[in-house]
Amino acid sequence: MDAKVGIIGAGPAGISTGVQLQRYGISHIILEQEKIGGLVANAYLLENTILYPHGLRGSNFVKILEEYARKYALSIIFERVLEVKKKENFEVMTQNNVYTFRYLVVATGTRPKRLSYFGVNYHVTELKKSNYGKVLIIGGGDIALDYALSMSEKASRVYVLHRSELKAIPSLQNHVKKRKNIELVSGEAKDILPITGGKRVVTSAGVFEVDEVLVAIGRVPNLEIVENIRDPRLFIIGDARNGIYRQTSLAIGDGIKTAMRIWRWEKYGNPE
Ligand SMILES: Cc1cc2nc3c(=O)[nH]c(=O)nc-3n(C[C@H](O)[C@H](O)[C@H](O)COP(=O)(O)OP(=O)(O)OC[C@H]3O[C@@H](n4cnc5c(N)ncnc54)[C@H](O)[C@@H]3O)c2cc1C
Repeated sequence: MDAKVGIIGAGPAGISTGVQLQRYGISHIILEQEKIGGLVANAYLLENTILYPHGLRGSNFVKILEEYARKYALSIIFERVLEVKKKENFEVMTQNNVYTFRYLVVATGTRPKRLSYFGVNYHVTELKKSNYGKVLIIGGGDIALDYALSMSEKASRVYVLHRSELKAIPSLQNHVKKRKNIELVSGEAKDILPITGGKRVVTSAGVFEVDEVLVAIGRVPNLEIVENIRDPRLFIIGDARNGIYRQTSLAIGDGIKTAMRIWRWEKYGNPE
């Protein structure tokens, strides 16, 4: 066995599981396909993590997770998990390796719902330039408005195209309303076409020529790798599990609770 616990994903849920397991002295390995931090790298300002009354930038949240990983000497292997098999233990396949664990924690988060148009972006971290002319964001939820705040510091004009009533939390709507370069547009995208240096977005509210388009119309959990496995030693946590309740504090709470349950299981033979 490679370690007692395998954790897939090094976002807030995976890192908090690892930290708590390390405190118990339970061996574990985190497998991460990209970087430490996960989705939170995209957040403009987290206002509800409670420990930070003045809010915390997503990029700073990532630095804190990296610091935890260093301080607790978490063992993180940067490989994408392609398949999981349950035999007596869990066999976890990446491109080059097969790992065996007694417990498996799936903290794989979510991925964006996509539109059929080519050349649009789904994460604000994909837009790396510091200066844009115009950017159009499709969506009216928390993520769309949070993206609008990020982009309003990098673009001269930001359009937020939302087809129904805004669903974003009122505090975010208030922040957006204070930004003079953000315009809320009620309408629906009909077509997105490439033009020199940008995109032409045809909508029910008119035509917009912009540098970039960001889409935030919902997310789906990354659970395909374990979709056929039912096992009490398999834990699905964080955004991958929490449906519409996708929040860092909930993901962190899930991670800590999962590590506590594994410890009880090891010590008493029963997690409850
Ligand atoms: C714009 C924006 C603003 C937000 N604002 C807030 C806020 O104000 N307050 C708040 O509490 N929350 C906020 N969130 C939500 C927060 O980011 C998530 O709730 C949190 O990141 C969930 O953590 P997680 O660890 O469950 O998943 P994620 O952070 O999504 O991490 C999952 C990790 O798993 C990895 N992974 C996935 N599949 C595999 C695989 N097959 N193999 C290996 N690795 C894999 C991914 O690369 C990723 O690193 C915001 C999110 C966004 C996008």
